[in-house]
Amino acid sequence: MFITNFHAHSRFDDGREDPESYIKAAVLKNFKVFGFSAHAPIPYDSGWNMKEEDFDLYIHTSRMLKEKYKDSIQIYTGLETDFFPGCTDWRNKRGIDYTIGAVHFLVNEETGAFMPVDGNRHEFEETLRSFGGDIHAFIRAYYGKVREMLLKMPPNIVAHLDVIRKNNSNNAYFSEDDEVYRNEVYNTLEIISLTHCIVEVNTGGISRGYVNTPYPSRWILEACLDMDIPIMVNSDTHHPDTIDFYFSEACEMLRSIGFRHQRILYDDEWRDVSLMP
Ligand SMILES: [Zn+2]
Ligand SMILES: [Zn+2]
Repeated sequence: MFITNFHAHSRFDDGREDPESYIKAAVLKNFKVFGFSAHAPIPYDSGWNMKEEDFDLYIHTSRMLKEKYKDSIQIYTGLETDFFPGCTDWRNKRGIDYTIGAVHFLVNEETGAFMPVDGNRHEFEETLRSFGGDIHAFIRAYYGKVREMLLKMPPNIVAHLDVIRKNNSNNAYFSEDDEVYRNEVYNTLEIISLTHCIVEVNTGGISRGYVNTPYPSRWILEACLDMDIPIMVNSDTHHPDTIDFYFSEACEMLRSIGFRHQRILYDDEWRDVSLMP
């Protein structure tokens, strides 16, 4: 099987080690392709984005590794980009092979305040408070912003689509059976199917202990298959030890839903490759 990962954070942003240690781990585990996706610089002090002044060195480092390891593995240089009012469009920046588009935070239009979607529980509750405690308003604002990103600045890959459930274990804030929630997700999938973006199956929330299934939930992936939306398996790793965390379980789940392929960048083209073992 093609083992690949396009979602990885290193020392350049909020990951742990040098990029090369991820490549060494990927080669040992017989990966065919590995992509780096540092959090693109933003004008907020988020604590997790790459600094603007490190951008050129990031590109250079990834390109240098691509050349050094070209006989063992294909390496691509990506960015995980944030969508917010006035954000930079990184998609055609020199040296960038692909983008993973995310909505990690909302911006309060009146105060300009930064409101995390997938922060810790305390941050989640602060954001919910800014919606007057109305979880439906929060859910609509999140998925509405994802749809706006897809329409205005469609990335190659949509990051952790339902990351708003990160703090929702035991349905602490909402049920995924809730009609408002389901409609927001379905409306978003309709836009995704028009834009030809890939939905990533992201195991990073499991490796970091927040959730016990990949993003997005199984029922969302079933809808993706029905709507012919392509998927790819990513670990959203922050350490070389977790580059393939939960991959075998995620691929097994995808096969049980009926997926036979994932879409990846290979030989510089987006291709469907087998998910079969
Ligand atoms: Zn993310
Ligand atoms: Zn990430």
